[in-house]
Amino acid sequence: MNQRPNTDQQEPGEALSPGLYIVATPIGNLGDITMRAVDVLTRVSAVACEDTRITGRLLHHLGLKQRLIRYDDHADAQAREGLLALMAGEAVALVSDAGTPLISDPGYRLVREARERGIAVTSLPGPSAAIVGITLSGLPSDRFLFAGFLPPKEKARGDVLASLAAVPATLVFYETAPRLTDALATVAATLPGREVAVARELTKLYEECRSGTPEALIAHYTDYPPRGEIVLMVGPAPAVETSMDDAEGLLRAELAHAKPSHAAAAVAKATGLDRKALYALALTLK
Ligand code: SAM
Repeated sequence: MNQRPNTDQQEPGEALSPGLYIVATPIGNLGDITMRAVDVLTRVSAVACEDTRITGRLLHHLGLKQRLIRYDDHADAQAREGLLALMAGEAVALVSDAGTPLISDPGYRLVREARERGIAVTSLPGPSAAIVGITLSGLPSDRFLFAGFLPPKEKARGDVLASLAAVPATLVFYETAPRLTDALATVAATLPGREVAVARELTKLYEECRSGTPEALIAHYTDYPPRGEIVLMVGPAPAVETSMDDAEGLLRAELAHAKPSHAAAAVAKATGLDRKALYALALTLK
């Protein structure tokens, strides 16, 4: 249980309360750092980071010289212990090379252990490539499933995609440029008929987002090999057209626990069929 209050809401300049501050940082455009992130980075005693050179450059850009401590989830228990002991008495920030820590980045073990020990944990929201990608893609954003990096080997990649085939949501993956066309080929083979989107170099100079069939995108990226960082998104399976005859069974199931108007609304939402027609049918079934 972590019952300690969020404690960075003090006057700027005041020392921060001890604890772990998870700080999201830009994924390309340095203007995307939040004011709260700068404030907290200014006031922590130390910044735990993946690569001290990369974070050092960000701090330098912000005019800061905080102590940097290298940390990743493969760090040995002793290194993690040292960090946990420090944050029990002082404010420590956790950043990754770019974006939101813990999202395909280190931090999960640290947060888990900090919480178990009653150390206050505060998370400062900010950029994450998955969120930028989904908002840009034009694919359904009401439900999405973030699944990190796809495996590099074809068989394992196909198995992961097959395991996600029935998920009624847009699938979001991180991908690297050299593997993009292979990943698209596996999507085409494993999840045929899906719309896909490739969001590249988000928030940077050459930002682009292309959508279409996997086959069309393979053709494009074969002619123009991609560079930079990539979010690959796969739209949900196209809705199977349901006839009124098929809908009758769904309606009967809904009517077992709902009144006709609610049953008709639920089946209309699930099938795309006309609600009024479904309501009329529901009245005859009731
Ligand atoms: N924690 C980060 C986040 O919140 O977005 C992600 C870190 S993960 C190690 C790095 C991967 O994120 C890249 O290989 C790429 O797939 C994706 N990524 C990061 N920055 C990106 C950008 N500017 N444009 C597109 N994808 C990006």
